[in-house]
Amino acid sequence: MIQLLPDYIANQIAAGEVVQRPASALKELLENAIDAGATAVTVSLTDAGRTLLQVVDNGCGMNATDARMAFERHATSKIAQIDDLNTIATFGFRGEALASIAAVADVELKTRRTDDETGACIRISASDVTAQERTACAAGTSVAVRNLFFNVPARRKFLKSDSVELRHAVVELQRVALCYPAVSFRLLHNATELYNLPATHLRQRILNLMGRDMNQWLLDVHVETSVVRIRGFVGRPEGARRTAGDQFFFVNSRFFKSPYFQRAVTNAYQQLLPPDRAYPAFFIYFELPSDKIDVNIHPAKIEIKFADEQVIFQILHAAVREALGKFAVVPSIDFDTEGAPVMPVIRKGDPPVAPPQVRIDPFFNPFEEEKKKAAQWAAREPSRGNWQTLYGGLTQNAAFDIDAPASETDSPAPEPLPERLPPERACVQLKGKYLLTPVKSGLMFIDRRRAQQRILYERFLKNLSAPGTEVQQEIFPQTVVLSPVDYTLFETVADDLKQIGYDIRPFGNNTVVINGQPASAPAVDAAQWLEDLLAVLHENADDLKRQRQEKLAVSFAKAAAGNAREPLTPLEAQALIDSLFACREPALSPEGKPTLQIVSMEEIDRKFLK
Ligand code: ADP
Ligand code: MG
Repeated sequence: MIQLLPDYIANQIAAGEVVQRPASALKELLENAIDAGATAVTVSLTDAGRTLLQVVDNGCGMNATDARMAFERHATSKIAQIDDLNTIATFGFRGEALASIAAVADVELKTRRTDDETGACIRISASDVTAQERTACAAGTSVAVRNLFFNVPARRKFLKSDSVELRHAVVELQRVALCYPAVSFRLLHNATELYNLPATHLRQRILNLMGRDMNQWLLDVHVETSVVRIRGFVGRPEGARRTAGDQFFFVNSRFFKSPYFQRAVTNAYQQLLPPDRAYPAFFIYFELPSDKIDVNIHPAKIEIKFADEQVIFQILHAAVREALGKFAVVPSIDFDTEGAPVMPVIRKGDPPVAPPQVRIDPFFNPFEEEKKKAAQWAAREPSRGNWQTLYGGLTQNAAFDIDAPASETDSPAPEPLPERLPPERACVQLKGKYLLTPVKSGLMFIDRRRAQQRILYERFLKNLSAPGTEVQQEIFPQTVVLSPVDYTLFETVADDLKQIGYDIRPFGNNTVVINGQPASAPAVDAAQWLEDLLAVLHENADDLKRQRQEKLAVSFAKAAAGNAREPLTPLEAQALIDSLFACREPALSPEGKPTLQIVSMEEIDRKFLK
């Protein structure tokens, strides 16, 4: 009854473990190139690797026999006896990768050792050797994988969009490139060059790879103990991200994942991280004797067991704290430095320092900005004169059914707000957070920030469909260097951004220049916002266009609404309420949280029952 599985089936089963998506095939090919001692590696992808995935290296190459052998399962040149497993210094050793990839794709291998005159070419399709010949080719090895999963439709169907698959592939390249700064890497996607990383030292490699100007915020980590040597870099807290993008652990030049060690790093930051930016960047390299770790526990070799896990946790934590402390990354005083006095150096014998004098600028009005904003609202958002509807219609049940169709034709011309508000529209502000105003059924509380978000959100979406937004030109255009992947992402939203009034232009080399912002977003740091936006889009790269625009709108609204707490003037408060109720869905923030609550007359009455 029992039969040995034919090789091609066994290989397909193995392939299921080794090759989940183009990126996993890329990982194996990159590792083989490194194992072969390559100093230059070029990766070409077509359609994120599903049509073509090619890795060309200048490594040691193979002779014709080995080239054929390489595709056999458990064929490896890297271990010969079981003891070798304990001292493994190469990426590969299972001898499964090429056999697995060749089981689920059309593979063409061309390879030549430097001293050989001709090279070998082998073509394999779904484990069948279809051609084997001598060929002229460059020294080194080229593996081209075409039509991945052509014979495993279920797998193929589960591949994500190109942008998602590409991102996975880029991550694999990053992991290898971060271990081998002395090896140059190029990545081409659909004939566009995404990365061109020259051979360099580690710090520069990180900068080139992350594509952002991180130099000032990479802090050195370095510690040597009898158990482990740890070196690398951590990012300054200010640069932390909302998502875990730039976090890398390596052990003996091999990437691995470890939520446990990640906690050691993050804990070291303690209170230093800005709110909602929980992910500092880190690039941490552990070195320890290879018999103190076990890399063989996972087929994709991404989890690694450490013998002295807890000790290393402590060492890592301390090393990161020291790095943060040494560079005085304590929360710095973030006052506006303009016109700040130069701190005098106090010398012995100087007269005692006089207590600081408080200077008050009697003309300084912190509300000026808000006033301007409110004026803009008032001017732009024609009051649709629906106060009657609001107050008249505000019964307990039909609270905000004021969604009278806002046809463009019948909206009245903007009428200037009256200087003095009628008493029934009076509005009280609570700690700058809430606006309170009487309505027919009781007392309405409006969450000011959420209300602003709703207003900006709808305006933003409206602008997307009706272009011609006023652009406020920046006096000092901002240059933002993006990572290549962020840049491709930027290109997908560039049109939308333009429509809503951002003047952001590509400037070559993954750089964009922000020349202008929508006039309705005076308070946003455009560069920061763009980065946040791209981070949000990253997580949702599969979204349809419409959903992407929504995300854009939410992100914009949240940033633009800001966190201001200064009270509004009565007119501004009124303009805000007006604008809110001119919205299609005034009762909800863009994220679906309530913008307002009504405390009913009954509830109030009840409080006075006794
Ligand atoms: P492993 O890397 O685990 O040994 P692979 O299936 O990835 O298994 O590769 C099988 C063998 O083919 C390797 O051991 C190596 O000898 C050879 N090989 C694979 N890729 C290359 C390459 N790019 N250059 C030289 N030799 C290679
Ligand atoms: Mg390998």
